[in-house]
Amino acid sequence: MSLLRVALDVPLPRLFDYLWDPQEGPVAVGQRVVVPFGNGRKGGIVLELPAATDIPPGKLRRAERVLDDLPPLPPDWLELARFCAEYYQRPLGEVIHAALPPRFRRPEPLVLPPSHYRLTDAGREALQNPPRSAAQKALLQQLAPGPAALPASPARRELLRKGWIAESEPPPAALRFIEEYSLTPAQNQARQAIEAAFGRFQPFLLLGVTGSGKTEVYLHLVAEAVRRGLQALVLVPEINLTPQLEQQFRQRLQGATLVTLNSALAENERAAHWLAAQRGQAQVVLGTRLAVFTPLPRLGLVVVDEEHDASFKQQDGVRYSARDLAVYRASRAGAPVVLGSATPSLESYAHAESGRYTLLELPERAREGARLPDVRLLDLRSEPAQDGLCAALEAAVHARLARGEQSLIFLNRRGYAPVLACPACGWASGCPRCTAHLVVHLAERRLRCHHCGYVAPVPRHCPQCGNVDIMPFGRGTQRLEELLARRFPEARVLRIDSDSTRNKGSWEKLRARIAAGDADILVGTQILAKGHDFPRLTLVGVLNADAALLAADYRAPERLFAQLYQVAGRAGRADRPGEVLVQTRYPHHPLYAALVRHDYKGFAAALLREREQAGFPPYVFEAVLRAESRDMNESIAFLQRALGCAPPRPEAVIVFDPVPMSLPRLGGWERAHLLLQSRSRRALQNFLREWSQALYNLKAGAVRWHIEVDPLEF
Ligand code: ADP
Ligand code: ZN
Ligand code: ZN
Repeated sequence: MSLLRVALDVPLPRLFDYLWDPQEGPVAVGQRVVVPFGNGRKGGIVLELPAATDIPPGKLRRAERVLDDLPPLPPDWLELARFCAEYYQRPLGEVIHAALPPRFRRPEPLVLPPSHYRLTDAGREALQNPPRSAAQKALLQQLAPGPAALPASPARRELLRKGWIAESEPPPAALRFIEEYSLTPAQNQARQAIEAAFGRFQPFLLLGVTGSGKTEVYLHLVAEAVRRGLQALVLVPEINLTPQLEQQFRQRLQGATLVTLNSALAENERAAHWLAAQRGQAQVVLGTRLAVFTPLPRLGLVVVDEEHDASFKQQDGVRYSARDLAVYRASRAGAPVVLGSATPSLESYAHAESGRYTLLELPERAREGARLPDVRLLDLRSEPAQDGLCAALEAAVHARLARGEQSLIFLNRRGYAPVLACPACGWASGCPRCTAHLVVHLAERRLRCHHCGYVAPVPRHCPQCGNVDIMPFGRGTQRLEELLARRFPEARVLRIDSDSTRNKGSWEKLRARIAAGDADILVGTQILAKGHDFPRLTLVGVLNADAALLAADYRAPERLFAQLYQVAGRAGRADRPGEVLVQTRYPHHPLYAALVRHDYKGFAAALLREREQAGFPPYVFEAVLRAESRDMNESIAFLQRALGCAPPRPEAVIVFDPVPMSLPRLGGWERAHLLLQSRSRRALQNFLREWSQALYNLKAGAVRWHIEVDPLEF
């Protein structure tokens, strides 16, 4: 009997030992196994073949079977998982299973779609002296001319076992790269700099204004990687953008094998795409944050598009940053990594300032004649708004309507109104499970919590005093849509937010309508801020941005600037110049001043100085220990006990007192946290590692806890 040390998806920082009878077949590190666990069974990954175990012999159980539907996960992949587990303070088994496609987490073999095989030398010999089995003979003959797809069958299995056939890559098609434009000098410079780094690790920050043609640079680089026989990993934010980008990549990189990876794929499809990447067949992997875990034996280029986007950070389970792991992967693979954005995260920009990342700039729009839009501030103190729009913005919309151009009114708040309230007694629609208001969704006559998804009907009268004149207060996109339709009766108004785009394919339909000119005024949230290219759109109006200006979160200005900069970038993409009008009560705020000048670098530099003085990231490293339970006192008490079992605190690490989170109640959980800061990443890591060992031994009772490293939310 041999021993297997297996990673299982359990929230404990340990591995599990099992027995395996070598008679039943070979087993390798990185392979999938099915093991008994408690009263059931689980899928696991073999991490070691140890010689001895601490488990008493009577307690050891036998692994049920070894699966070979997935080739063994390679050492560099296991190392990535280990790094992720250590850095983000999660059990390795949990990390490995979070990284695997769901299909490979289940304790059942995957029946593979036909894949390609070739004859080995032994197989060629066997062809001279054919086996008795007709089925095996037929397969050998089928492979004689060259690699071919063979569906799963007993004969295929037997030939594989005998070593007469081996998996093979499908014969690659020749890449035909469609060059649509000649690159601008700035694009060309960026491309050359990055190409010169092929074959070694070098991080680049590609700072390109909206419409500067960053995608075009990626396409050229990916084509070059494919030409060199390398694999390219392209990460994009988790938004409706992926199908569009996929189409663009397929059109331009003809003959290349491209697979996508995102959570919208069907289970088997996602597993098949992963396999194609792991086998080296896929030359390009285009995916959302989860794709950062794709095994890529010939990884030669990593691209992270819109690298500032918050969706690269996983918000539950293993709370990793795909952007940061992408850089780590590139460093291990010895490959260049390109982080692209018009408004990079301050973390990345600080690295560019310090020279750790090479800064490449695309300061102008790529298209002939396309300019950045004029940004003007409309002072609400002197020009009061009526129904949300002030006179100057209304006139600007009228002018667009007269010219047959499109306007976009940006309001980052979906629903009809943010709250339903009773003017008689002061009642407001609160979520019973969160510290938040229920948002009025009038069309479906529902109140909805945007934090936990709680839904309730709109009451007919005040639940507190019985008053029937309860009213929606404030304005969301649905109400704005209604107001605009009334104000501009001749216009076709289209609302684009996560409610109107929820159904599969609905965003594609809306996009087609906009592109066809079948809409005059778009009302939308941040969904519209990203990467879309609408040539007839020449006006962007921004409503109610001040709310975010006043937020307490130190990251709020960075986020707001990025959002406004991106949404402003939707105006005037083609030959028609664009205009951006921002309604505000704070026209002298430095954020708006920077927006008017399109001055990302100036604004980022100012924010970085502030962060440095205040002792915030990226000048310190942060982590939080969070606790949630049904009772805030219990959550806080857990954190106090956690402090009690902490190892001696090194001088370099600051530990703050437990406090309720800024959204204290979420989905019925009362949430508290304590913040840790350090100027030394290593000191913080070491302290956390020791502490979490102790935390796993602490009786948590009904309290759930976790550590988050580099948190974005407090
Ligand atoms: P970004 O991602 O930087 O916002 P895109 O890659 O979407 O910009 O490019 C903006 C527009 O400019 C697209 O319509 C693209 O087709 C066009 N474009 C890109 N590069 C060039 C070029 N070298 N010459 C002309 N047009 C270009
Ligand atoms: Zn009332
Ligand atoms: Zn709620």
